Amino acid sequence: MPAHDVLIIGAGLAGQRAALAAADAGATVAIMSKVHPVRSHSNAAAGGINAALNPEDSWESHAFDTVKGSDYLGDQDAIEIMCREAPDEILHLEHLGVTFHRSETGHLGTRAFGGASAARTYYVADITGQALLHVLYEQLMKYHQTVERYEEWFTTSLLQDDAGSCTGAIARNIRDGRTEVFGAKAVIQASGGAGQAFKPTTNALICTGDGIAQSYRIGAPLMDMEMVQYHPTTLVENGFLITEGARGEGAQLFNKDGDRFMESYAPNKLELASRDVVSRAEQTEINEGRGFEDGGLALDITLVDRKRILEALREIVNIGRDFAGVDITREPIHIRPGQHYIMGGIKTDVHGQTDIPGLYAAGECACVSVHGGNRLGANSLLDTLIFGRRSGEHAAGRAMAMAQPGEPPESRLADEHGWIAGIIARERGGGRRVSQIKDELGETMNRHCAVFRDEAGLNQGLEIVRRLKEEERSAWIDDAGTVFNQDVLGAIELGYMLDCAEAMLVGALERRESRGAQYRTDFPERNDGEWLKHINVSRNGDDAPGVSYSPVTMTQWEPEERTY
Ligand SMILES: Cc1cc2nc3c(=O)[nH]c(=O)nc-3n(C[C@H](O)[C@H](O)[C@H](O)COP(=O)(O)OP(=O)(O)OC[C@H]3O[C@@H](n4cnc5c(N)ncnc54)[C@H](O)[C@@H]3O)c2cc1C
Repeated sequence: MPAHDVLIIGAGLAGQRAALAAADAGATVAIMSKVHPVRSHSNAAAGGINAALNPEDSWESHAFDTVKGSDYLGDQDAIEIMCREAPDEILHLEHLGVTFHRSETGHLGTRAFGGASAARTYYVADITGQALLHVLYEQLMKYHQTVERYEEWFTTSLLQDDAGSCTGAIARNIRDGRTEVFGAKAVIQASGGAGQAFKPTTNALICTGDGIAQSYRIGAPLMDMEMVQYHPTTLVENGFLITEGARGEGAQLFNKDGDRFMESYAPNKLELASRDVVSRAEQTEINEGRGFEDGGLALDITLVDRKRILEALREIVNIGRDFAGVDITREPIHIRPGQHYIMGGIKTDVHGQTDIPGLYAAGECACVSVHGGNRLGANSLLDTLIFGRRSGEHAAGRAMAMAQPGEPPESRLADEHGWIAGIIARERGGGRRVSQIKDELGETMNRHCAVFRDEAGLNQGLEIVRRLKEEERSAWIDDAGTVFNQDVLGAIELGYMLDCAEAMLVGALERRESRGAQYRTDFPERNDGEWLKHINVSRNGDDAPGVSYSPVTMTQWEPEERTY
């Protein structure tokens, strides 16, 4: 059995940053990813990363904007840590080799982002995630003696000892279908979001909530799962993202009558209000008949100087041309709100520790919670790096103070083999195809758990998801092979997405108020008296998930009315 001090599941920004931190602290590390690390979804991050680095800016201002953006559901101790540590992290990355944009005076350049009271988003054109990921990966290669990379390995389950501590994971080598047990003194889930539970989504096919569901299945509570972010500018045709950087550079939104409608919803911040506010405004315009025939609204990027577009927004020039047939330097492009990010995830403290000893989580799969009810643009990359590093350091500290746990009984691996073989052996044509169930799941979530919600719709969504969970037990696939059998992985991922979706719907039904991304038309007001608290969803055997609450940590900002 391969055994390491720290096993990290996921090699996006959170996982790679955690691996470097754990290795720096002296631990032996394994980092595992179902795709080559630089193909992790962090690669798609476009617009930038926030930090109050400019001397005229302050971490307190960044923290207040984040608290307000979260609709006061974010934990203020965690937000303070993230914003205080942000400037040093950016400088560290710059020193490692990230080519952040520089202004004509040679200073690091910033662009404005939504919900921020200062332009504090640092960027590399509109490929910021890719630039960060590649630099971290170069660093990982430098650490080859202490960091073992398991690339194209798919973790299927987490392991626990009799006392309930997490002691490793079981994973399948995608190249040949071999399944193995990996022992570890600490495991960090850095396995990303669950956007594929929605259709459409800006998220890649690999964002299937694997680590969230694996942790939930061994008893880790999930927090704030009802908080699902719809991004204001996704392509009408297919949900592809047009980065908030476009509005940061000066692009404006118009309805079919040519009105710049954000003037009535957020007169001060306009297009740069926080995402929940802009998405709700757009959906209202569409619902009230002021959208275009294709169901979208117009984002006019031609207002930005053409030279600047070609320099700073070149990827969305390609996206507009290739996926909408629009030259964004010459004409407006049609957009609508689309699923983008989940604020909720595996509940952790500020060191990444979950409620399961030895299990940590960081990045989009975790909920620490710095985003609360609504994440500010460019705060996610920051979250992955700050809490990736902190979890790596803490996990290394734990690991180096203890002995390697014993191996699990052989029957555990045999059970896993049996489970996967059972999926492969399902009768072709016996039930529904995995892809059919996945499509119905995505459409259901996008109908019932989107920008506007109500009890009847959420109940309907939950009923469908529970039926799909039944159907998933007999869902069949075509490929019975061992080499790169993506079909069987798709079937396993479907189960993870269904668990995540159920937790989101349960949380959304439970929260009988409107806050951040959760707007309940049947409870349209924020209700701090009853609902200024986190909702935790826990697995309850085969019964419906259990619901509990935890307090929101306040340090210095009392809830106020939120206007932009
Ligand atoms: C189009 C787009 C643009 C964005 N732009 C920005 C931006 O400009 N600024 C910003 O702050 N945020 C942005 N975001 C959000 C941000 O990119 C993500 O939230 C963040 O990158 C998530 O990083 P992560 O490390 O948590 O997960 P990921 O980068 O998604 O990595 C997850 C890792 O887990 C691995 N994994 C998953 N399941 C398994 C399994 N079962 N077994 C083994 N490995 C597994 C994957 O292979 C991968 O390596 C954007 C998001 C999108 C979709």
